[in-house]
Amino acid sequence: MNDGVKPQLITDTPKFATISADEANAKTLVTEGNVTVESIVDEGFGERLGLYDEKDFVFVESGSKSGDGVQVDAGYIDVTSAPDYALKKLRGKQLGIVFQDPESSLNDRMTVGEIVREPLDVHSWGTKRERRERVRELLETVGLRPEHYFRYPHQFSGGQRQRIGIARALALEPDFLVLDEPVSALDVSVQAKILNLLEDLQTEFGLTYLFIAHDLSVVKHICDRVAVMYLGHIMEIGDTEELFEAPANPYTHSLLSAIPEPDPNAEKDRVTLRGTPPSPRDPPAGCPFSTRCPAKIRPEAYRGMDDEAWERIEVFREVIRERTRADRSFSDRVREFLGKETRFSDIAEITDELFGDVQDKLPDDARQHIREASSYVDAGNDNQARNYLFEEFGSVCDKEKPRHHSVTDLRTSFCHRHIDEFEDSQSVFKRL
Ligand code: SF4
Repeated sequence: MNDGVKPQLITDTPKFATISADEANAKTLVTEGNVTVESIVDEGFGERLGLYDEKDFVFVESGSKSGDGVQVDAGYIDVTSAPDYALKKLRGKQLGIVFQDPESSLNDRMTVGEIVREPLDVHSWGTKRERRERVRELLETVGLRPEHYFRYPHQFSGGQRQRIGIARALALEPDFLVLDEPVSALDVSVQAKILNLLEDLQTEFGLTYLFIAHDLSVVKHICDRVAVMYLGHIMEIGDTEELFEAPANPYTHSLLSAIPEPDPNAEKDRVTLRGTPPSPRDPPAGCPFSTRCPAKIRPEAYRGMDDEAWERIEVFREVIRERTRADRSFSDRVREFLGKETRFSDIAEITDELFGDVQDKLPDDARQHIREASSYVDAGNDNQARNYLFEEFGSVCDKEKPRHHSVTDLRTSFCHRHIDEFEDSQSVFKRL
């Protein structure tokens, strides 16, 4: 082991490195391309990290606590391109996975015993007899009975099937479990039982969890730290209680505002996001949330402009962006060639609809830019219109990737609004 060597993102084969106690406390370990890897094991095992994610991620970490200080073995591997032998090694003692759907993640042609025993067989663990005993022990650990060994998955309920999946993930005693939405396919009452089981197992075996979820109330219940992700970026990461109490990033703020209140009379300022997340194949050049952020920073020239009129400009940009992404079919091209109407030829209608009632709130130069962009669209140059609007109306949020800013000792947020020259997002949301 090489003390002091920083871990690296891996492209082909997994490499493992040791980081020293000081480095273990660092917040950001590696940033490469779209992926920022955060130190999540700074207190050793026993921590559960919640990863809120709208899109995919590439992130694997394992750790151990040893000796007289914190010493973390951290391995990073791109699981989408690692060779089979590396994945096999990883999914042995290091990493276990529990899948989202207990219906499709178990092979209905195998008995429960065979399913749970499979990782032990693959890794040639012990003798045949020892493996059978281990499986019976695991079934008991997850709240099933040893005699379930010879039954088939279809004979079990959803919750029991998920228990089988958990037993399989624990078979080789991994240090680290990836729980990919483990309760989202289950009824609420069963969800509670599985969450309690996961908590008990963590205490019993000292496991580290990476708990991926879309249900924020589950995240709040089970996680010590949460990483909120958008389009492959960690937007905010930190202590769960702090993050839910006072979200620092506009995306987290918007998400939390959408959690339903049990009290029907409770007042809540719900933030509604416009549009849908952009395609990961065509992500925004600056902040990934810039196409939908309600607290997005405006370019200086338009800071005093009427909010509603500015919002229409943002929607107009989004419409043009969508047009550049949509594929023109052969018949669209033929109709365009013949000068006939297509679904791409309604720009005058769109501008009328968007700006008709806010014309007097638009400054002259903004009106001129909208006209100019519309003329590019009219001429079939959607990309030119998009670039033109980007240049004229784009702000720092559109053009520059934010940095991770420390919000507190326990939290960082990926947003330009933490820079002193800009109003902070909390005050922006108060005004909205
Ligand atoms: S950087 Fe800009 S767009 Fe991104 S979250 Fe912050 S304010 Fe919103």
